[in-house]
Amino acid sequence: MMAEKISFVSKNHVGWGAIQHLNEEAAALGAKKILVVTDPFLVDLGMVDKILNKLDSKFEINLYTKVSPEPSLEMGEELVAYTRENKSELVIGIGGGSALDLAKIAAVLATHDGKVKDYLNISGTRQLENKGLPKILIPTTSGTGSEITNISVLALESTKDVVTHDFLLADVAIVDPELTLSLPPKITASTGIDALTHAIEAYVSINASPTTDALAIKAIQLIGKSIRKAVKEGNDVQARTDLSYGSYLAGLAFYNAGVAGVHALAYPLGGKFHIAHGESNAVLLPYVMEYIRSSCKKRMTDIYGALGYNPLQLSEEEASIKCVEQLRNLVKDVGIPLTLKEFNIEETDLQDLTKDAINQKRLLGRSPMPLLAEDIYSIYKAAYDGTAAQ
Ligand code: NAD
Repeated sequence: MMAEKISFVSKNHVGWGAIQHLNEEAAALGAKKILVVTDPFLVDLGMVDKILNKLDSKFEINLYTKVSPEPSLEMGEELVAYTRENKSELVIGIGGGSALDLAKIAAVLATHDGKVKDYLNISGTRQLENKGLPKILIPTTSGTGSEITNISVLALESTKDVVTHDFLLADVAIVDPELTLSLPPKITASTGIDALTHAIEAYVSINASPTTDALAIKAIQLIGKSIRKAVKEGNDVQARTDLSYGSYLAGLAFYNAGVAGVHALAYPLGGKFHIAHGESNAVLLPYVMEYIRSSCKKRMTDIYGALGYNPLQLSEEEASIKCVEQLRNLVKDVGIPLTLKEFNIEETDLQDLTKDAINQKRLLGRSPMPLLAEDIYSIYKAAYDGTAAQ
């Protein structure tokens, strides 16, 4: 096994009340003029005001709220142009992955030439050269882990692509579960399964290491025990705290070990059909894990245990099959459809989806089982029919 390189966001405030540290962190970064990137719904909810009220009046704040879920490349281009003109010195992102991903791109590209498009992973031609403006990221969903990853995801016409570099890492991440209390059940469910997918894919990734294993297993334990409760009883402080820590740890795990097949197949669902990122991962999770099960039975036995079930009397074959069953039950219990049909995808779309997914080489390269076009089609077909992949 090769030595691993592990990187983390250098300063993290995590846990109930963590948001109290915002002012001291903004002051420590020495900036006066702050660009806040957030989504309009959180402004209407009063959450953005509540958070910004923690900042001293000496800061000059510019609020940018043109963020929609699953942000497009065009949205990124518009924000970057605005940030360059606006001459901010610090960027604060408040929201789910959509707002945080845009905040990261704005901060870094503020000090670069060219378009966001030039820096995309699959089709871009330019490399980032510097870290850009400092950034503080404050998640309000327990899902993407964007506050501690080095990726920003953008929706293109028929799929998604990313800008990825360690320059995108936040200077400070503030993860306060209290900010997630207002999440409705549907978004709690989809973002929570997104976080679970991060932890599971990191655990079975070919780049997994003892460090990322520890993070991923703890994340699976925390999410497994809290997600149903957080969906049903959104005000439950313990469930929200566990889910928030779970999402944070899953983010640390996947940022270092990577995610793989579920994400590669989910990106075209987001890009082409605008299905929320968490839901597109959720609908595919049981089918991808079922398909690759034979390549990672031992690890799936561990996941089954971390989800709170007892694998001791079972063979790895049995436990890994039961693991897939429990993942399917979990997705169903939190109210997410279990077939692509239910998302209005037609069988005739599956070939195009396969063509797009196969381009996600960065992701597919980490799968414990190589996934070729025919494998990907079989998984989509199984997810379309709601049956086991052949
Ligand atoms: P989101 O940011 O799109 O938000 C979903 C909805 O939830 C929005 O309508 C938002 O207004 C609402 N919302 C957010 N916080 C709320 C709160 N506390 N109370 C009530 N409503 C709230 O959803 P997301 O799943 O967090 O982010 C998805 C995006 O993140 C996608 O574009 C996806 O590709 C990307 N992503 C990024 C990474 C990464 O590492 N950078 C990882 C996974 C996904």
